[in-house]
Amino acid sequence: MDLIEETYFGWDPLTHADDCPVPVWDTVEIRRSTGVRPAGPSTSDAHACTNPMCEHAAVFGRVQLRLLCRDCGTVRIISGEGLSEACTHTSLTGWGQHPTRTGGVWLWPGRPAIPGGAPHQYLVTQQPAALTRATLHGIITGYHDSTGRQRWIAAAVPDEDGAHHVSALRWRHSSPGLTTVAEAADWISALHIRPQRTLVVSV
Ligand SMILES: [Zn+2]
Ligand SMILES: [Zn+2]
Repeated sequence: MDLIEETYFGWDPLTHADDCPVPVWDTVEIRRSTGVRPAGPSTSDAHACTNPMCEHAAVFGRVQLRLLCRDCGTVRIISGEGLSEACTHTSLTGWGQHPTRTGGVWLWPGRPAIPGGAPHQYLVTQQPAALTRATLHGIITGYHDSTGRQRWIAAAVPDEDGAHHVSALRWRHSSPGLTTVAEAADWISALHIRPQRTLVVSV
């Protein structure tokens, strides 16, 4: 299972020239070709080597991706061997969907547990413009309690020294088990409204 923070964080934009007036890639193209390995002494198509992961084929799939920005003239070429490709959709990745406003916060969905289903995790921000490590405010994560019922835990305020561990992140505050995502979002919103009180409680 993917960690939701890996779905959203650790991905770097492919940058343009510093002075690019419209930093949007105009052309994105892929080239698929077949590379041939240098022939060894063997006359057969397959070579022999000791690498257990190698299929010992004489040919390999090569992929090149190129991006062009007409505004700044930047061309980026990314190439590799044996790459995998996937064409999927935001309904299956979660990532790429618009955040939804719930209570006073915005929820960014993780990957749905099953196609067309609801995600079992959301990251939370206090505005809809961007989800970054800097704007991350909370997390809502689902689990099943001892009777098998769906429950949700909310956590807020990421903090490396926080006492609460939810997903692979540490947080200053975390909720008890709640019954709905909306309730979890409300818990985070309410926490934000009364910061002094939580400060007193945590001392
Ligand atoms: Zn550009
Ligand atoms: Zn080999």
